[in-house]
Order: sequence, then C-alpha cells, then structure tokens
Amino acid sequence: MMTDLSKKTEVLIVGAGPTGLALACQLIRYGIEFVIIDKKETTTPYSKAIGVQARTLEIYEQIGLADKLVDLGWKAGKARMIVGGEKRGELDFTDIGKGLSDYPFVLLVEQGLHEKLVYDFITSNGKDVRWQTELESFTQDDSGVTAKIKNSNGEIENIEAKFLVGCDGSKSVVRHGLGLTFEGMTFERMFYVADVVIDWEYKNDALMVFLMKSNLLAFFPMVGNNTWRIVGTFPEEFSKDEGDVLYEEIEEQIKRDAELKLDITKVNWFSTYKVHTRHVNKFSKGRCFMAGDSAHIHTPAGAQGMNTGIQDGYNLAWKLAMVLRGVATATILETYNEERLENAENLLKTTDRFFNLVASPEPVLTYLRMHVFPYIAGVAFSIDAVKKFVFPRISQIAINYRHSSLSQHAGDDGVDVKAGDRLPYFLVEGRSVFDMLREPKFHLLTFVDGKDEGKSEDLSESFDAIVDRQTVPLYPHVAELFGVDKTFNVLLRPDNYIAMISHESSLAPIQDYLKGCL
Ligand SMILES: Cc1cc2nc3c(=O)[nH]c(=O)nc-3n(C[C@H](O)[C@H](O)[C@H](O)COP(=O)(O)OP(=O)(O)OC[C@H]3O[C@@H](n4cnc5c(N)ncnc54)[C@H](O)[C@@H]3O)c2cc1C
Repeated sequence: MMTDLSKKTEVLIVGAGPTGLALACQLIRYGIEFVIIDKKETTTPYSKAIGVQARTLEIYEQIGLADKLVDLGWKAGKARMIVGGEKRGELDFTDIGKGLSDYPFVLLVEQGLHEKLVYDFITSNGKDVRWQTELESFTQDDSGVTAKIKNSNGEIENIEAKFLVGCDGSKSVVRHGLGLTFEGMTFERMFYVADVVIDWEYKNDALMVFLMKSNLLAFFPMVGNNTWRIVGTFPEEFSKDEGDVLYEEIEEQIKRDAELKLDITKVNWFSTYKVHTRHVNKFSKGRCFMAGDSAHIHTPAGAQGMNTGIQDGYNLAWKLAMVLRGVATATILETYNEERLENAENLLKTTDRFFNLVASPEPVLTYLRMHVFPYIAGVAFSIDAVKKFVFPRISQIAINYRHSSLSQHAGDDGVDVKAGDRLPYFLVEGRSVFDMLREPKFHLLTFVDGKDEGKSEDLSESFDAIVDRQTVPLYPHVAELFGVDKTFNVLLRPDNYIAMISHESSLAPIQDYLKGCL
C-alpha cells in the first residue's frame, strides 16, 4: 500500500525552539489544528537563554506553567559590581517589580529545562513536534501554503496549511523563501558563554558584574552548587573565527578580566558567537509569518530575545484563531506586522544602547561605568521611582501597541492608561486581575463605582460568544491607576492589551469597535 505523504492542517509551525513551542501552546488554547516541525532530534539540552521576563510568566500563567517554571529556576535578586578584582558596590533588586506584576523579578532558568516544560505541555495535550523534519521549500497562493518537508526517514512530504509561521531561527529558510530583508549590523567582538562550576570566595546568590574598560563580563548564578553562567567578550583585536576558539582561551580571558582568584572545576557547556543586531523589513507576506529570531536578533543585553519571540507568538495566535474560525477577516492579520515590527525596531535600539553602556570603550562611558555607577547604583535601585521605571522596561510589561490600528483612543483622552497598553496589574479581592482573564476571548471589564451598577445590556449574539464579560468594583487603587472615578468599560483583546476604554453606559461603542476590527 502507498503511504500518503501529504497532510492538511490549519497552521504549519516551522521550528520548535522557544518561539515555535510557545506558539503551539497558544494554538492549543484556541483549539487550532497545527503541525510543528523541527530538524533537531528534540528540545535543546543547552542552557542558552536563561533570563525569563515577567510578561512571559504572565503568558505562561494562563496555561498553568508559570509557577512550574519558577520552581525550576532562580529569582535574580542581587548584583555585585566588581572593579579591578574588588567588590565596589551591590544592587538589591529583590521584588523590583512589586505591585506591577505577580512575577516581580527576572527569573534565571536554563533554556533546556524551559523548553522541556513547554514541550511537555504540548504532549500532554495530545500533540507532538515532528522532530528530525526539515522544511525544504514552500509556495503560497490565495487559499493556503504548500510546504515541502523532508521527514525523519528522509522522505519528502507535502504539508498543506492555511498559514505558515517561520519560527526557524536567525538563519530562517522561511525568511529567505519570502525574500524578506534582514538589515542591520554585526558586532566585531566575539562573545563567549560558558556554564561552569567555580571554586572561589563568592556564593552563587548574586549576579556578578565585572566593570572594566572595554570587555564585558558577567556571572549569573544558576541552580546547583557553585554553578554559574559566564558571558563575556574577547577584546576587539581577537581575530579567531567562532569555531576555532578553544575553551582554554575562554578561561584565560575570564581570569584576566575578572582579576579574581577563581578555580573553574567543571565546564558543563561553552560556546562562542558573533552578535548581530538585525530585523526583518516585514513580519509577514501573504499567508506566511515570521516570529522570534527569524525576525529579530540583537545583543544579549537585557535578556530580551527569547522573551520577544514568545510574545510574537502570543500576539499572532489569537489573530490567526479569529480568522480561522471565521470570526474576523484576514485584515486583522496585518496588525501583527504593525505591532511586532514597531516592537522589534524599539527593541534593537534599546538593546544597542544598553550594550554600549555596559561595554563601550568610549572614555566617558568607561569612566562612568567603572568609577561612578558602582557607587550610585545601589542607592538608585533602592528608590521606588527608579524601580518603577526600570522594571516595566526590562520585564516587557511596558510594551504597548498604542500606535496600532487596533487601539481606539476616543475614550482614553485624559485617562492615564491608554488603548494599546497591557492591562495594568492590580488586585481584585486579593488576587491578580489576570486570574480573571484566562479565557481565550476578548474581555469586557465593567468597573462599577457603586452608584451606577453598569447597564445589564446584552452584546449582540455574534459577539456574545467571543467576549467574556466581568464586573469589577471600582476600587480606589483602580480609580487611581486609570485616573477615572466613575463607572467605565474597558475592552481587552484576547492577549489582554486594551482595545478601548469607554465612559458610555451603553455598549454601542464596544459593539462598533468589534464590528470595525473583526
Ligand atoms: C548565549 C545566549 C544567551 C541568551 N540569553 C537570553 C536570555 O537570557 N533571555 C532571552 O530572552 N534571550 C536570550 N538569548 C536569545 C535566545 O536564545 C533566542 O532569542 C531564542 O532562542 C530564539 O528562539 P527561537 O525559537 O526564535 O529560535 P531558535 O531557538 O533558534 O529555534 C529555531 C528552531 O528552528 C529549527 N529550524 C531551523 N531551520 C529549520 C528548518 N528548515 N526546518 C525545521 N526546523 C528548522 C531549529 O532546529 C531550531 O530548533 C540568548 C542567546 C544566546 C546565544
């Protein structure tokens, strides 16, 4: 009997790194059929991206994975600054984001453990990744995409999908196939990363940041006795190619730059790489979309890359689901490029700036880094206003879509929170508001002031099925947050970003919004 080597599905995900896996989880939430392929044998065994941001944990919380991931890692709480082998200052950022998220910290957890947890969620939902399966080429027309893949037996198969998402990393076959550009630059410096066990005077209870003239060096504590992730750069004049660097050269560089007595007793993993800062000119073309490193790469400063990929998927999944279920027209898919391209452009600018601050050989910056920052940073980080400025930016909770065509601003004039913002975090009867917002639907929150109970008007039947409605007392802290003291409505998109704010008691503006955007 002939094997049928073709398959139809709704979404083909190419690549099962953190981005592809996270997108698959979202499609499971929306009940969308998908096939996910990866040319590797299984999830990565390496520690790679270790910084997990609060916004990622908020997304995982909706599928019950956040606390499990937190249990696998370490909450970054302190940083010691070392200059010339001497401790010159200490930063305490324990619960730096208190009151801003249920996850007010940066979590450090190995990418291998992280991917495995997400992968287990996928398999526990009856799905699996097709490992050792590689995308070779694809074509698309008005009705779908046909992908030619090589399966684990070396056979060529066709997969027909309504949509294709390229989560296939920085060398993306999908990006090349679509003819998208990936403009930007490559840093001259060679980076290294090493996961090691160290015998020295310091406990692995704080991040160690070594401030020096031009190189970058930081040690991140990892789970396990005396286990550390080291990230650093070789000097500009170091001219070897990535594959030619020996571990011994990395260790020599670490010891030279740290200027401390330390004995590296075990090396679990090491790698060298060149850092690029680039993004695609467009996040989609026809029925194909780009997400994660295939769409944007940048310096590791700020631990943003993997988290951004996960959020690309979060942004795209609900839009694909609405279109595939016939709830929205394909026009809504254009907002994926609108929103995530702007985000990638901002991300590259901020990570470049941050990187310059920590590694630039420019004399003024060097002086500030080595002789001013260590002394003032500890005090600065004890100031609430500084924490409230820094945490939202690092944790990605400040990312907004204010410029998106999905953000309707008519009702946010004079209101502090704007359409396009992530719903700010607050407590409802002692629990995070996000606990109420897990359903994969739009959410209509009516904040009632006690005088006006909010009209019990119904939404039209077609919207009723896709909008989850909730009434919340207008607590003083919520009134302060929004800067509104009377009953009002907030419509949230399924990804919990504000679509619009309405002060009218009638639901007509909400219905009009939904008609317009869907
Ligand atoms: C040392 C280091 C430290 C980092 N630290 C952080 C951090 O702390 N926080 C953070 O947010 N980010 C960090 N990053 C960045 C982060 O690792 C990446 O942004 C992230 O892995 C991107 O995930 P992705 O799924 O988009 O791509 P990838 O992880 O590259 O996954 C792409 C997948 O696609 C598969 N694939 C490729 N081509 C094909 C094909 N043709 N067919 C089928 N499958 C294919 C690959 O096998 C791979 O599994 C770090 C990176 C490095 C190198």
